[in-house]
Amino acid sequence: MKTIELIVPCYNEEKCIELFYNAAKEVFKKLPTFRFIITFVDDGSKDDTLNEIKRVASIAREEVVQYIALSRNFGKESAIYAGLSKSTGDYVALIDADLQHPPELLVPMIDAIEKEGYDRATARRVSRKGEPLIRSFFSKAFYSIINHITVLDLISGSTDYCLMKRTVVDSIVSMSERERFTKGIYSWVGFKNKWIEYENVERIAGHTKWNFLGLLRYAYNGFIAFATTPLRGVIYLGIIITIVSFLYAATIGIAALKNPLVPRTGYNSIMIVLLFLGGVIITTLGVIGEYLARIYMEVKNRPIYIERETNIERDSGDDQKKAETDNDICSGKGL
Ligand code: UDP
Ligand code: MG
Repeated sequence: MKTIELIVPCYNEEKCIELFYNAAKEVFKKLPTFRFIITFVDDGSKDDTLNEIKRVASIAREEVVQYIALSRNFGKESAIYAGLSKSTGDYVALIDADLQHPPELLVPMIDAIEKEGYDRATARRVSRKGEPLIRSFFSKAFYSIINHITVLDLISGSTDYCLMKRTVVDSIVSMSERERFTKGIYSWVGFKNKWIEYENVERIAGHTKWNFLGLLRYAYNGFIAFATTPLRGVIYLGIIITIVSFLYAATIGIAALKNPLVPRTGYNSIMIVLLFLGGVIITTLGVIGEYLARIYMEVKNRPIYIERETNIERDSGDDQKKAETDNDICSGKGL
């Protein structure tokens, strides 16, 4: 019998825990051939969330309800990582506590994996009903920019509500970087994903933890974690300024040849030197930045490749070690 584990990050969700648990149980009834674990990750809540979780855990009978309580609020991405790295289920789902991620989608998600051969099924909102227009606008702009300047292929409306096979979970956990831009990491690890579409749902109780500044910070982290294009932009800027300095020098030179008798001020020569040196300095900064970007990507220690399947029998631990130590393999790291 296979086990499905739900990982539920919770931050100040005291009103949602029991509602979530009841809704999840309804869905479990529809899937009698599976065992279920619910892992609540209490992300340093300041209200009664943890006690609520403990209470629910004490009344759970058919399914296992367990929890991890973090020492303070580390943010949703870290809470998810905590849950994933401790997970044991054959299939693992990430789902919000506020019922904005409808648990009944688990049924088509399981079908996608078991019957259709996908490795992962991810929920995607087709409408942004009930969301402020400005948030939708910035969200669309964010996806369009990040897809252009990184190797990532993110889809607007994609959520982090998903169900995945054990192999996918292990690859995500093997991405040991601190600054965790989860959507980017999901896209980076690859695997066959099926999008399961649904209409936006309002949260059942409590308040969203996001404000506009928080979202901006999230977007910014996404760019910095996966994109090095801005640094390359610095090099181009430097080169352009240097070229401009040459063009300027040439124009002044030609003008001087044409009218040798017109007296020249020192202004021209100072401008030429300024432009030239400025260009050289900016280019050098860009080159240094480029190396810094590579060091940044390198210290993330991402795996060099991720295997989907193989018929070569080898201890999977060896594979990982090989990926970490073999420097000769031309790195496929997407910058
Ligand atoms: N969450 C968390 N830590 C945080 C912020 C949020 O674990 O620092 C959890 C929260 O309890 C919820 C999920 O992440 O289960 C989504 O948060 P929220 O509903 O506030 O985000 P939104 O749905 O508005 O994007
Ligand atoms: Mg929510």
